[in-house]
Amino acid sequence: MKFGGTSVADPDRIRHVARRLVDARERGVRVVGTVSAMGRTTDTLLELAGRVSPHPDPRELDMLLSTGERIACALVAMAVHDLGHEAVSYTGSQAGILTDAVYTKAKIREITPVRVLDALERGKIVLVAGFQGFSRDTMDVTTLGRGGTDATAVALAAALGASCEIYSDVPGVFTADPRIVPDARKLSAVSYEEMLEMAASGAKVLMLRAVELARGHGVRIHARSTFADELGTWVQEADGGDEPAVRAVTHSTDDVLFTVRGLVEGTSSSASILRAVASEHVSVDVIVLSSGQGTLELAFSVASDDVPATRRALGQAEARLGPVDVHEAAGLGKVSVVGAGLRSHPGIAARTFRALEEHGVAVRMISTSPIKISCLVDRGDVERGVRALHEAFALAEDEAERPAAD
Ligand code: ADP
Ligand code: ASP
Ligand code: MG
Repeated sequence: MKFGGTSVADPDRIRHVARRLVDARERGVRVVGTVSAMGRTTDTLLELAGRVSPHPDPRELDMLLSTGERIACALVAMAVHDLGHEAVSYTGSQAGILTDAVYTKAKIREITPVRVLDALERGKIVLVAGFQGFSRDTMDVTTLGRGGTDATAVALAAALGASCEIYSDVPGVFTADPRIVPDARKLSAVSYEEMLEMAASGAKVLMLRAVELARGHGVRIHARSTFADELGTWVQEADGGDEPAVRAVTHSTDDVLFTVRGLVEGTSSSASILRAVASEHVSVDVIVLSSGQGTLELAFSVASDDVPATRRALGQAEARLGPVDVHEAAGLGKVSVVGAGLRSHPGIAARTFRALEEHGVAVRMISTSPIKISCLVDRGDVERGVRALHEAFALAEDEAERPAAD
């Protein structure tokens, strides 16, 4: 059972989470809980680091950030004790969560949950600090990237052969962020494939890496509310039935576009730039390569958190290629439509552009996958764009009652 930051934001909520863990234990199952840091703790720690040092050392950043989850999970264990049950909290490292050595973005490689299993055997409720692990290569604490407690939850479920419940302040995965679209609908199920695209295009309700781990290990995720008992959303293998063209609209508001001009055609300069970016562990999103008058222009977008690493990568590429003309545009966002049925419904791109155009949203760049269309737009247009697309594809209606595509 995983509880996010809002779910443990204050002492009352911590006691509520303890109650949910105890209720599950009293139903006769063995319970492992993993929790995120309280409320905005991680953001506050990041801000603090930034006030102390303009470029905080990544190893020390992980030492700092991992404390947030440690605090929350010790407090939950205390609250469980007060309800008359035994509980024990562990850091990621104590729980045997082994990762690679990439500070601030580590990937879980293996879990050896000896202490967790031992404590479960003794009837205890086990709390594991989310978002962190330990690298054998460096013998250091690592963190798993923003939203990483979701990955902790799925990896633990896979290692323990357990079911995986992810509790948050929303009752499941919706057709759009319910904070932006009040009539967004809760989905009863969503396939791994669709959830991967949704997470990759900004639906932060589940972390991308957690969905990858779930698909890789066949873990079904039940995403549901901390504060209500209703069923949430199952993230699982597709059921093979008829798919709606569009399942959900997603968005992000932290995209930065890098444009590199004047690359010489016929050299592998764009590959070399993208390789440098990848070696800094930055995932690029939209990529457009265009040519004209013997030169190439490479444009790609990254998340704003990755801007310093991208600048470093471009510096390294420059050292190899000679000076490159780089332009950086911030203040962008993305709106995307996602649905496995996109494959078999032509005309979705046309409807997407028409809806955005009718609402005065200018599309700067597009990228597609077989089941997603993403449009890079000005950040100020994102919310309008999301509402326009939700409306255009009638996502507030029950799937069976939506008008057919034209
Ligand atoms: P937690 O702190 O529990 O991990 P997050 O803040 O990471 O929770 O994720 C939950 C938030 O994700 C919700 O409050 C909601 O605003 C946002 N969200 C974005 N897209 C969606 C979506 N399609 N369905 C549900 N929630 C979404
Ligand atoms: N506390 C971390 C974050 O804010 C991890 C998480 O919430 O899952 O990103
Ligand atoms: Mg989260």
